[in-house]
Amino acid sequence: MPTGPSPFVIPAPVQASLPVRGAGLPSGARFPVRRIYCVGRNFADHAREMGAAVPVERGAPVFFLKPADALVPEGGAIPFPPGTTDLHHEVELVVALGLDAPAGVLAPGDAGALVLGYGIGLDLTRRDLQAAAKAQGLPWDTGKSFDHAAPASALRPAADLGDLAPRTLSLRVNGELRQQATLDRMIWTVPEILHELSKLYALRAGDLVFMGTPAGVGPLQPGDTFAATLDEAIALHGRIAPA
Ligand code: MN
Repeated sequence: MPTGPSPFVIPAPVQASLPVRGAGLPSGARFPVRRIYCVGRNFADHAREMGAAVPVERGAPVFFLKPADALVPEGGAIPFPPGTTDLHHEVELVVALGLDAPAGVLAPGDAGALVLGYGIGLDLTRRDLQAAAKAQGLPWDTGKSFDHAAPASALRPAADLGDLAPRTLSLRVNGELRQQATLDRMIWTVPEILHELSKLYALRAGDLVFMGTPAGVGPLQPGDTFAATLDEAIALHGRIAPA
């Protein structure tokens, strides 16, 4: 192992990570995050509210990415981001990969073995910037990828959660229910999404996937508090702080 001074010309950036909590894990265990993949339009009711044609065709899933350092582990105070007057919440299941995918396209039947655990998160969106980009046929990056754009819960091992399909994902803002759906409403399941992603990217241990949001997306204002839950199994609490 090298013992000399760091070869980096500036201090190395801090490794993004999330806590992992479950039976048999030491307290303080963390999951280092490599990439954050996100799925667009994975609930038909949300696709409709965003203006998609009815019926919503399964087609191919829409993917985008957020930088790993956009994570806000376990929520807390989220600064209201610059450049927007329409910050939106999108509550989502988060999948954490604990193993590298083998070379080539990943079969859906082999995908589950890569999953270390699950959490929940908010795909925070500068909706005004996203809408303007969409209208001009331009990339969405400034609408989706920004500082503090991905508050996320601690992860739980997959074995602790069992079958995800009947579990209910909810988001309350200032105590009012804004979004709620069971995970069997997802158009693409977790193995199907990992299969589709593997056609485009080499999936690696440390990757997260935000699985898309149900209907009911809406604005968050400075001072709002939010509480996202997956039944009683996972919770994420936070508030929007002033800019
Ligand atoms: Mn989303």
